[in-house]
Amino acid sequence: MKLFPNLSIKAKLIVLVVAISMISIIVGFSIVMVKDYLQIRRDLLNKVQFEAALVGEYLVGPLNFDSKKSVADVLEKMRAMPDIEHSFVYNETDELYGAYHKGQLSILPPTKPPSPCSRFGKGHIEVVLKIIADGYNYGTIYVRASTAVMNTTIRNRILWLGLIMISIILIASFLAFHFQRLISQPILTLAKVTEKISSDIDYSIRVNRYENDEIGILYKGFNSMLDKIQLWERKRDEAEAEQKRLMLELEAKNKELEQVVYVASHDLRSPLVNIQGFGQELSYSIKEADSLLQEMPTDSEETKQEISNILRADILESLKFIQSSTAKMDGLLSGLLRLSRVGRMSSSTFETIDMNLLFSEVANAFEYLLKEGNVSLTIEKVPSCLGCELEINQVFSNLVSNAIKYRDNQKIPKIRIFGYVHENGNQVVYGVEDNGIGIPREYQSKIFQIFHRLRPDETEGEGLGLAIVLKIVQRHNGKIDVESTVGQGSRFLITLPRAIG
Ligand code: ADP
Repeated sequence: MKLFPNLSIKAKLIVLVVAISMISIIVGFSIVMVKDYLQIRRDLLNKVQFEAALVGEYLVGPLNFDSKKSVADVLEKMRAMPDIEHSFVYNETDELYGAYHKGQLSILPPTKPPSPCSRFGKGHIEVVLKIIADGYNYGTIYVRASTAVMNTTIRNRILWLGLIMISIILIASFLAFHFQRLISQPILTLAKVTEKISSDIDYSIRVNRYENDEIGILYKGFNSMLDKIQLWERKRDEAEAEQKRLMLELEAKNKELEQVVYVASHDLRSPLVNIQGFGQELSYSIKEADSLLQEMPTDSEETKQEISNILRADILESLKFIQSSTAKMDGLLSGLLRLSRVGRMSSSTFETIDMNLLFSEVANAFEYLLKEGNVSLTIEKVPSCLGCELEINQVFSNLVSNAIKYRDNQKIPKIRIFGYVHENGNQVVYGVEDNGIGIPREYQSKIFQIFHRLRPDETEGEGLGLAIVLKIVQRHNGKIDVESTVGQGSRFLITLPRAIG
């Protein structure tokens, strides 16, 4: 039950105490009033009945002796009974025998005596009694008394009770107003402390209370909850500091690693160039030496042939291996260098990119390859994103290049580029979909690793394109997903920050 949900506890307590005392007092006083009213009426009725009976007894003699004068004398005694206003006496033959009127005003007597009764009328009470003595009926007495005094008494009683009631209610309200603090104060203190804690975000504040009632228990529970929050806060702060430290360490390590990769791939290429150059030089010299050897006159043709074999088959062959290995190493190093350069030159503040324009530029760049491969490229209307245009261009160029490269020659190659706003509203998703050869499920996570290629002998490539794509996308706080089925095609989904406005 929710009573006065918008009132403060203080006001609720006062309202409750006053309402309860009001209801109890009104009910109690109403019962007393009704009882009093009935008692006062009963008292008046008894009194009038008694007076009528008394006068009736005095009338036995005059009625017995048939003396109207004596009857009138007895009735005159009624002046001493202030409530009685009119009285009529009938003899045994129901003939009106005497009448009494207190004031000037008189009322007409009933022609026949009414049957014995006692009843309240409007502003009066009527009592009719038979006058009986020694079992003999001497006649009837009719008495009519005013209820004005009784009504005034009742009115005064009600007035007094009303005044007492109002005084009690006022006293109850005053006491409720003062003593509600006993209950409301600690709750208000708790509410204030809670408010302060949440506004200052200070969990070191505590509530103090010494009593052992339920509010004391509530305070204790509140304080121990704050202890726990403080402990969690400390632990969280420590964990956050540790996380920050680790992140900084990781960042430094990453930078260091990138630097190492850059320096290594860059600097290792110079000795490699020397190896390649000198290897070349060596192979020329050996060829020269071989031709000189062929021209040289000798006695032993056999030894000459042996030396020539060593020069051609062993040394030149070995040199060829050295050269092809250095060329491969050069390729790997330049790949590493390219990967380590991603993000090095571009700024970290991103701009709004009109992706419709970017996709049409990518399509133009691949015009020749698309035509040559008879590939149909569909570009849908897409939303803009935030990023470094040069890098995002590289991402989609690599993806389109792969979609062309890994086409299925059994079908007409189709590529579709599409895009939509992510359901979170802060990102956009772009897709590059092809109907090419597809990627087996077990390799789908590996294709983003550097130098990882599925069919190195079937197509040309360095296994670097998707590693670069992943690095760029991660630099943009985005993500890349691949969905692919062998023989059906692949779909690469790139999520990037959305350009608002
Ligand atoms: P590269 O194309 O030079 O081999 P990538 O990093 O671009 O290097 O791709 C890695 C591997 O992923 C590729 O060797 C290829 O096997 C697979 N791959 C990438 N894109 C597709 C595609 N659209 N369809 C099928 N296979 C793909």
